[in-house]
Amino acid sequence: MAAISLSKLNKHYGSLFHAVKDVDLEIADKEFVALVGPSGCGKSTTLRMIAGLEDITSGDIRIGNKVVNHLPPRDRDVAMVFQNYALYQHMSVYDNLAFGLRNKKTPEAEIKTAIDRAAGMLGLHDLLQRKPKQLSGGQQQRVALGRCIVRNPQVFLFDEPLSNLDAKLRAQMRIEIKRLHAEIPTTSVFVTHDQVEAMTLGDRVVIMRDGRIQQIGTPLQVYGKP
Ligand code: ADP
Ligand code: ADP
Repeated sequence: MAAISLSKLNKHYGSLFHAVKDVDLEIADKEFVALVGPSGCGKSTTLRMIAGLEDITSGDIRIGNKVVNHLPPRDRDVAMVFQNYALYQHMSVYDNLAFGLRNKKTPEAEIKTAIDRAAGMLGLHDLLQRKPKQLSGGQQQRVALGRCIVRNPQVFLFDEPLSNLDAKLRAQMRIEIKRLHAEIPTTSVFVTHDQVEAMTLGDRVVIMRDGRIQQIGTPLQVYGKP
């Protein structure tokens, strides 16, 4: 069974603009899919519909064996990493990491264990008492990744998470995300306009153009390079 299945998925903005057109896509359990294409082709809209942050116009979205078409984000078992990190500025790193679990009334001892584990994976131990504005962009994005990891979701969704970082940091974070996926294999959809990111990270690459899927394949099939 696919971990995520999109069938005949459509998104209209208003009556005229058709942003996502009849998208069909099956993503396997623990697969890492890179969704790539030029700005405005509908990648982010597709991802946000999977997350439940954007209403669908028609079609079906399944996560696991559940049709999630109109479910709110919290009922989808997904965690999303945003381009602008979306951290709570007035909270410490620790409290940012704890936030989702506290909402679910997870016991504090369990939260601490989950945060210790994520902080270890991401090298965050020395930063836990800082506020987001006392962190570099790369550190903030690590915290955003940590916030996803502690929730242990079925699916990770990434919306151009590396686009605000400089080239060197982007390359480092690519490696880090790849390592994390090897360490805790989780079904992942990674939106990017960067071919190198798509090629490096994706088990498969999905190329979108003008709201449609134009091509799907391994990096080798799509780009002629492994
Ligand atoms: P991408 O992520 O590939 O850059 P998006 O999914 O963000 O593309 O956008 C696809 C198209 O939908 C673009 O033409 C964009 O301008 C349009 N669009 C996105 N969000 C809205 C919105 N809230 N209202 C109207 N049009 C939108
Ligand atoms: P939980 O489901 O553990 O209570 P959160 O309270 O952290 O998780 O988030 C609820 C849902 O909202 C999540 O599914 C997540 O995808 C989404 N979400 C989390 N942070 C943001 C954000 N900054 N902006 C929009 N959506 C978010």
